[in-house]
Amino acid sequence: MDASQTPATAANLVLLGPPGAGKGTQARMLQDRFGMVQLSTGDMLRAAVAAGTEAGQKAKAVMEAGELVSDDIVIAILRDRLAEDDCAAGVILDGFPRTADQAAALDDLMAEVGKRVDAAISLEVDDDAMVTRISGRFTCAGCGEGYHDSFKQPASEGVCDKCGGTEMKRRADDNAETVKQRLEAYHAQTAPLIAFYEQKGALSRVDAMADIDAVAKELTAVVERSTA
Ligand code: AMP
Repeated sequence: MDASQTPATAANLVLLGPPGAGKGTQARMLQDRFGMVQLSTGDMLRAAVAAGTEAGQKAKAVMEAGELVSDDIVIAILRDRLAEDDCAAGVILDGFPRTADQAAALDDLMAEVGKRVDAAISLEVDDDAMVTRISGRFTCAGCGEGYHDSFKQPASEGVCDKCGGTEMKRRADDNAETVKQRLEAYHAQTAPLIAFYEQKGALSRVDAMADIDAVAKELTAVVERSTA
């Protein structure tokens, strides 16, 4: 944690929203601002695929098809990650839970260590805009900072604003056809979790069609309210 951060809240947050809603971008912003740790199951799975682990080998084709990896695999990966020391500072879950079984497993995992999901934030967007958003996005291979062809270019072309890295990468599943499948999976399996967290009184909705800074401001307010 550095001087620009607000003192640790140790809150545990869930970010919900379809692919392209800005979960990763906003999770990184919250991590920088509040000191909680961003946990992206998509990133963990991509790392497992790249490393060729058993889980990665099973997940690869499923991810390429834009479908959901089995609950067993994803829950096991998250369980191990949550046990690491840095998660004591609080976590921002980006891309988990994505099914009712994952949400139940998360409650159990949190309860085992005397914690709970303090807030679930639904990033609300129009599906139509998501294909455009996703098609233009790329990230720094070094630090993971996200960019976009139309909305957020690095200040100096090809050079990461954050770490100075010069290798940029695009995701294999960020093509129009796979995005459609991912949106379908979101609506069928993940969107019902909005009602799940609403019933617990833990849900906030944020208009995520606004620009990145406006969304970040709203999210910051939600986090400050839910941890006050
Ligand atoms: P993301 O980076 O969150 O867009 O995830 C990319 C892909 O990884 C998804 O389309 C799924 O195939 C897989 N994935 C990520 N998180 C999960 C999860 N919680 N449950 C199942 N599959 C997941």
